[in-house]
Amino acid sequence: MKEIWTLAEFRCGSLNSISFELLNRGKELAKKLDAPLSSVIIGNNIKTEDINELIARGADKVYVVNDSHLEHFIVESYAKVLISLLKEFKPDIFFAAATTTGRTLMPYVAIKMKTGLTADCTGLDIEEGTGNLLQTRPAIGGNILATIKTPNTRPQMSTVRPHSMKPMAADESRKGEVIKREFIDDSSEVKTKFIKFLKDETQQVGIQDAKIIVAGGRGLGKAENFNALEELAEIFGGEVGASRDVVDKNWMTYPHQVGLSGKTVSPNLYMAIGISGAIQHIAGMQTSENIIAINNDPDAQIFKVADLGIIGDLNEILPPLIKGIKEYKKKEA
Ligand SMILES: Cc1cc2nc3c(=O)[nH]c(=O)nc-3n(C[C@H](O)[C@H](O)[C@H](O)COP(=O)(O)OP(=O)(O)OC[C@H]3O[C@@H](n4cnc5c(N)ncnc54)[C@H](O)[C@@H]3O)c2cc1C
Repeated sequence: MKEIWTLAEFRCGSLNSISFELLNRGKELAKKLDAPLSSVIIGNNIKTEDINELIARGADKVYVVNDSHLEHFIVESYAKVLISLLKEFKPDIFFAAATTTGRTLMPYVAIKMKTGLTADCTGLDIEEGTGNLLQTRPAIGGNILATIKTPNTRPQMSTVRPHSMKPMAADESRKGEVIKREFIDDSSEVKTKFIKFLKDETQQVGIQDAKIIVAGGRGLGKAENFNALEELAEIFGGEVGASRDVVDKNWMTYPHQVGLSGKTVSPNLYMAIGISGAIQHIAGMQTSENIIAINNDPDAQIFKVADLGIIGDLNEILPPLIKGIKEYKKKEA
């Protein structure tokens, strides 16, 4: 029986929502293969609620390895757990998020399992006829999208970009199977020592977690015009995003860049202002809940993905828009 596995991320006592994004991605694959969808959760102090949440969010089975030695992410220990599970249960497909954890752990495991891994996928699908996993990712500097297969070895492994999918909604009525395994400690095999957990403070711009993003492109004309976008983002309690062209022009810094060679975002509201909607930009924001585009070219590609399109000169649209929203907010307060 073919089975599809996803890696749930459990850190500091709670599940990362990326775990639910992976389940949403796995759902379609499972349907096409008529196979169960499972999550693997590794950590310490994993609670029944965490396991139940994975089931509610789409897992048919949850494999749990809960042990005090697994409190911190140590690649050798986590890999040992995964390899043992993979050898015992032999899933057909196994994928994780392309986070620091996924990018570190999955290649390590793939080498030990003597199987292939496609990193940083933007799309996963099932090939008709063979049932092989089709793993799509940008290649050659993002100029082409390559679809890669692992036809000869199992499991077929990949990491997928975070925020390239919405998290699976919870359905508390779902039932699932829970499979627990013990962690067998052998510290002599572990060369890595945990010293301290330090949060990365260098990534000050949190556009990937923002609920609202006000993004600007070359249509803004000059760096100073981003002040209006910063004002708008501040009113909304959001963040400022940017196209690659404005980052290349030094109007904005790289952590703000959205797209294929920047970040993938999925906010509730994405405002694309003076952005043409090149395929490389759209790849980074198309899963946004609501997209509003302002552009003076009625044929701009961005209007193809926009829920609301405003055709006109942003210099004429932005000042009254900001004024209007401010007045509305004042009345609401
Ligand atoms: C390998 C590779 C990776 C890439 N990665 C990324 C990426 O991660 N992110 C990304 O964004 N791009 C990326 N690109 C670049 C991408 O192809 C486009 O060049 C870029 O997105 C265009 O940026 P833009 O929309 O700001 O500029 P333009 O395409 O020049 O668009 C400007 C828009 O502003 C409009 N405009 C002009 N004046 C006004 C006005 N007064 N009022 C209203 N609208 C106005 C114009 O009609 C136009 O549609 C990548 C390209 C390659 C080859």
